[in-house]
Amino acid sequence: MNTDTSAPRKLRVATVSLAGCFGCHMSFLDIDERLFELIEHITFDRSPLTDIKTVGPCDIGLIEGGLCNAENVEVLRAFRANCRVLVAVGACAITGGLPALRNHLDVGDMLQAVYGTVPDDPELPLPLNKVHPIHEVVRIDHSLPGCPPPADAFWQLLQDLIAGREPALNKGLIRYD
Ligand code: SF4
Repeated sequence: MNTDTSAPRKLRVATVSLAGCFGCHMSFLDIDERLFELIEHITFDRSPLTDIKTVGPCDIGLIEGGLCNAENVEVLRAFRANCRVLVAVGACAITGGLPALRNHLDVGDMLQAVYGTVPDDPELPLPLNKVHPIHEVVRIDHSLPGCPPPADAFWQLLQDLIAGREPALNKGLIRYD
C-alpha cells in the first residue's frame, strides 16, 4: 500500500477559447519541453487539449477570447463558478481585442453582408450586439496581456500559482501586441 502522502496535489487547470483565435493556446504550448515538467504539477480539466465537455471544480481557469455570443457568456459563467482563480489570457479576453473592431457596425448588417441572410437555426448561439471583454461579466483574478502573451508569461504565471505565490510578471513579459 502506498503510504506516501508527501507528494503535493496536482492543480487542476481548465482552459477555453471563447471569441479567440486559439493563438493564445498555441503560445501556451510554446513553452515546449517545459510541458513535461508542468504536467508533474497540473492536470487538465475541460480544455481544447482534452475531451472533457464541461468544466468541473478547478484551481485555475485560463480564458482566451472575449465574448461575442450567448454561448461564450454561458461558458464563461461556468468557468467562474468552478475555478478558484480565473485568468484573462490575451488581448481579446482583456479588452475584446481585434474582434471588437466590429463594435461600430450593426451585427444584423454584418450577418447579411457575409451570409446574404441572417442565419436562424436554433442550434446557433445568438451573437451579441457588441464584443465584450470578460471582466464586464465576471470577476477576473489575473491577466496575461499580449496578442498572444509570450510563452514565458504562461510559464511564469503557472510557476507562481503552483508555488502558491501571487503572480507577478517580469517587466519583459508584459506586452500588448
Ligand atoms: S489575444 Fe491574439 S492570439 Fe489571443 S485569441 Fe486574441 S487574437 Fe488570438
